[in-house]
Amino acid sequence: MKKVTSVCPYCGAGCKLNLVVNSNKIIRAEAADGITNQNQLCLKGYYGWDFLNDTRLLTPRLRQPMIRYQKGGKLTPVTWDEAIRYTAKRLGEIKAAYGPRAIMTTGSSRGTGNETNYVMQKFARAVLHTNNVDCCARVCHGPSVAGLQETLGNGAMSNSIADIEHSKCLLVFGYNCADSHPIVARRVLRAKQNGAKVIVCDPRRIETARIADQHLQINNGCNMALVNAFGYVLLEEDLYDHEYVSRYTDGIEAYREQVKAYAPEAVEAITGVSAQSIRQAMRTYAAAPSATIMWGMGVTQFGQAVDVVKGLASLALLTGNLGRAHVGVGPVRGQNNVQGACDMGVLPNQFPGYQPVTDAAVREKFAHAWGIDPALMDDQPGVRITEVPHLALEGKVKAWYIMGEDPLQTEADLGLVRAGFEALDFVVVQDIFMTKTAEAADVILPATSWGEHGGVFTCADRGFQRFEKAIEPSYNVKRDWEIISLLATEMGYPMHYRDNQQIWDEMRELCPLFFGVTYQKMGEMGHIQWPCPTLDHPGTAYLYEGNQFDTPSGRGQLFAAPWRAPAERPDAEYPLVLCTVREVGHYSCRSMTGNCAALQTLADEPGFVQINPQDAQQLGIRDRALVWVSSRRGRVISRADVSERINQGAVYMTYQWWIGACNELTQDNLDPVSKTPETKYCAVNLSAI
Ligand code: SF4
Repeated sequence: MKKVTSVCPYCGAGCKLNLVVNSNKIIRAEAADGITNQNQLCLKGYYGWDFLNDTRLLTPRLRQPMIRYQKGGKLTPVTWDEAIRYTAKRLGEIKAAYGPRAIMTTGSSRGTGNETNYVMQKFARAVLHTNNVDCCARVCHGPSVAGLQETLGNGAMSNSIADIEHSKCLLVFGYNCADSHPIVARRVLRAKQNGAKVIVCDPRRIETARIADQHLQINNGCNMALVNAFGYVLLEEDLYDHEYVSRYTDGIEAYREQVKAYAPEAVEAITGVSAQSIRQAMRTYAAAPSATIMWGMGVTQFGQAVDVVKGLASLALLTGNLGRAHVGVGPVRGQNNVQGACDMGVLPNQFPGYQPVTDAAVREKFAHAWGIDPALMDDQPGVRITEVPHLALEGKVKAWYIMGEDPLQTEADLGLVRAGFEALDFVVVQDIFMTKTAEAADVILPATSWGEHGGVFTCADRGFQRFEKAIEPSYNVKRDWEIISLLATEMGYPMHYRDNQQIWDEMRELCPLFFGVTYQKMGEMGHIQWPCPTLDHPGTAYLYEGNQFDTPSGRGQLFAAPWRAPAERPDAEYPLVLCTVREVGHYSCRSMTGNCAALQTLADEPGFVQINPQDAQQLGIRDRALVWVSSRRGRVISRADVSERINQGAVYMTYQWWIGACNELTQDNLDPVSKTPETKYCAVNLSAI
């Protein structure tokens, strides 16, 4: 029997746990004393490991490489040599025929780790010579990265998860932490117990609303109008910090001009929130000695998400709630390593450490370190995940190498995504389960899972944490970075790494933000938040100390923009708004948690559609009855969950099931900057079966 230290692979809270192992089987998970979780775990942390013991509940593990030699043919088991040779040959042919930009690559925000993501973006840039590399941040917190980089200089949470409970006011906007990050929800509860005021902005009466001092039950799809009204109140009621704004920010006059049409009284009809509530919320927020804004997908999965993120950051700037402990802005990352995937440059516009691909000196630095001619480096930002289906249909993207993601379940408008896949010449999937995307692959490269390899994750608060290998894999699988290295070598770029640490040290040498985060230091300190530029630097608990922002002017950038209505509005045929949400017991496309006995028991049938009692009555739908949910793009079966917690005019479905898959219904209206789809808003109809 042994105990192996690990980090939970299921959300950005980054809870530490111990896997108890006997005879190469996991026996149980125990909570460990991590800085974010302090000996606590949620259900997924306690019960999310038994797929590693091959319980074969739903989906078989991928056990050996496979190739589909002909479109429409069967997947054939092959040797690793054949899989690598064939994949390298096909990618090489496509690159030669159509150019490097015809190949898309996707890193993984899940259990693979930072080292693997570093190697994946290196493969794209140094071997394929393209910046076509992206990750699932594109469909979740991409707008947070883009919006915060512009307003404050860094796209990450300004403070830390542990800091939340010390804040005296929490503005929780479009963020259902009880379901998405249960351990973060406990911090919110503790803040409340410590005397914090809690303001929730959410159309549903989510768990946090039950402990809130104020719940602003906003209409779906009007975040920008509410955030502008908040700004209006801060200025009109003179609640903002004049000295802070004048010393540390730019743009107050333009901001004032933008928000002047958003008096709370003027936007009541849009937002559904009374002017008095809007005013009271800002009086509370501005009066608090320390205040933190937290948000989730309820902000970012809209066609105007980047603007809203910038607007939220502006509220913090107006009130001086940055650059010290217990304040700040908190985009709480969903998947366990989505922060890390971004840190490692699995982004089409940035190398590891957020260094721009358009900067010639940066390109030269990486080219020199990687031993390639700088002229071969792509000097333009690459393709975003959400653009791939469109570009495939236009014949501009021909191949997609996907590691640890399942776009054929998790992307918006699955009909469009399927059409895009059908237009591709070559699809490579590197994963641990036979996901929907793996079923469509031409080549399957089976990888080790979390638990079968070690590495480094970054949790949502910029904290690097090491996790260890617990068991030997039972199948003919390889570590993700080993597979990529074999492909690179086969394609003529020798890539030979000894272990994770060698990759990590190569990355550190190239990234000033992370240089001081050594394996040894992580072993000693447990959790190190970037920036950590030198070997004796302890890491940075909060950003912007001294109110020095990492923008070109060194000052925070105030921003407001006119509210834009969502792209598709309800009408007589589709009278309800559909918003996609998460359920607490499952993770992402459910391939891991759906194969864990306890979690599968907790939720063992395809999702639900939550609906308000009045809407249900009007449509003749009874609680727990099967219903059709239809939109302009498709229809699916689900089960009605009639609840007073749901606002009238909207319904909610989880995206984690392939039967009743709500992404058959969603649409891909993309934010113009981040290209994140508007999965939180489309028009649907419900009918009883
Ligand atoms: Fe895992 Fe997140 Fe639950 Fe912590 S809160 S145990 S990281 S799923």
